[in-house]
Amino acid sequence: MPELPEVETIRRHLAPHVEGRVLTALDVRDGRWCRPLAGEEVAAAVAGRRIEALGRRGKYLIWELEDDVHLMLHLRMTGTLLLDPPTPPRHARVRFGLDDGRELIFDDPRRFGTGELALGGEARDAFFATRLGVEPFGTAFTSAHLYALTRVSRAPIKAFLLDQRKVAGVGNIYADEALFRAGIHPLRPAGRLTRKQVAGLRDAVVASLEEGLAAKGASIDDFRHPDGVQGSFQDRFLIHLREGEPCLVCDRPVRKLRAAGRGTYVCEKCQPRPRPRQVQAAATRNSARRPARSAAASS
Ligand SMILES: [Zn+2]
Repeated sequence: MPELPEVETIRRHLAPHVEGRVLTALDVRDGRWCRPLAGEEVAAAVAGRRIEALGRRGKYLIWELEDDVHLMLHLRMTGTLLLDPPTPPRHARVRFGLDDGRELIFDDPRRFGTGELALGGEARDAFFATRLGVEPFGTAFTSAHLYALTRVSRAPIKAFLLDQRKVAGVGNIYADEALFRAGIHPLRPAGRLTRKQVAGLRDAVVASLEEGLAAKGASIDDFRHPDGVQGSFQDRFLIHLREGEPCLVCDRPVRKLRAAGRGTYVCEKCQPRPRPRQVQAAATRNSARRPARSAAASS
C-alpha cells in the first residue's frame, strides 16, 4: 500500500498538470468508491470547479476545489491515478476530466480505494480529525509531542506507528525502517520508551520518509506512479524485506516476525527484544482493549 512518500510523489507529479485547471467532469463508474454518496451527487458537487491545489494529508490526496469544496482520495491497496493512459486501464473506477482535454483515470483492481467529499474547510478538518494524527513533515511533529502520545499508548511501538490516528502516513515499510534506524524493537511497548529513544525515533521516522521521498517512493506490490515510472526506494531498504540477509550494521541475519499483524523485519542485535514481561503486558492490554485495532487503523 502506498505510504506517505508514495502518495506525496504522486501529488508532486500530478500537481503541475491539474492545478489551475477546471475539473470539467467526474465520471464515477463504480458506486462503491464514494458511498454512501451517489456518484452523481459527488460529480455534481465538483464538476465545473477550478482546481486550486492538489494537497495531501497522511496517505490522502486532496483535490482542493474552488468555493472550498474538497475531494479526498485514498488509494488503499492497489489504487493508482493514471494521467492520459495510452490504453484504457482494466479496472477504471473513476474518470476525472480536465478542461485541457486531458484525463486522469483512477484504476483500482481490488476496489478498496475511496473518494470522499467535504463541503467547506470545517467539514474537511472534521473528517481528518477523527482519522489522522500528526503530520510527520509538519512543525507539530516534535519529540515532545511524540513522547506525549506514547505515554497514553498501551500498544507495541510498531502498532503505534501504524495507527494513522497517532502519526499520519507511516505504513509497514517506513515503520520497519524507522525502528531499525532508531534501534528499537518493534514489539517494545510504546509507553515504556525513554525520552531519548522517542527523540531518536522521531528523527528516524522523518529520515526514513525523506529518503523514501527522495527515491520517489518504493515500487513493491501493485503500486505504480501515474506515468508508470518506478520509485527506487525498495533498492535502499535498510531492513524491510531483507529476511536472512546480513544486517547492514552488525552482519547478523535479518529476522522476519509478525508485529501488529504485519510481516516485520528486525535485527535483534541492533534492536534488542524487550524483556518478555513487557511484551506480554503490552499484548494483553492491547488485545483486551481493542481487538481489531491494528487492522482498522493501519489503512
Ligand atoms: Zn544489526
